[in-house]
Amino acid sequence: MGKKGTKLIRSKKTIIDGHEFDSQTEAQFYKKLLEDEKVDKIELQPKFILLNKFTVPCWKCRGTGKMVSSKTNKSINCSSCKGTKVRQRQPWTYSADFKVTYKDGYEEIIDVKGGFKDAKFPYVKKMFEYTTGKELVVWSYKQKKWIRSR
Ligand SMILES: [Zn+2]
Repeated sequence: MGKKGTKLIRSKKTIIDGHEFDSQTEAQFYKKLLEDEKVDKIELQPKFILLNKFTVPCWKCRGTGKMVSSKTNKSINCSSCKGTKVRQRQPWTYSADFKVTYKDGYEEIIDVKGGFKDAKFPYVKKMFEYTTGKELVVWSYKQKKWIRSR
């Protein structure tokens, strides 16, 4: 399992003060926040929209919204886009782990990382920072220490 000197924190549901956490690491970080005297408010799993929903042209009707009926040979609404000419793409949403407000009013959005690598995360972080203009603060627990990424 874990390498010597590395504490392996497994992903396991943990409940503190009635809040359920996805991993031990998140739960431990929450405890750390509760003990921090500079912290005023803690919000769990704040949600963000990284990209709004959008459309692309419908490939079936080539963006015209129309097609020719094979039965009547008449022009009808495209069966795929229902005449709207476009196809919908879903928004890109992201839930961080914590939103922390400090007593001086400063706010931080925090993602806590366990031991495993998440290949998508660098893109999420970049997009989050681009859309919100805020740093996505990343904390991880390594060698029995909390480390804030730079
Ligand atoms: Zn169409």
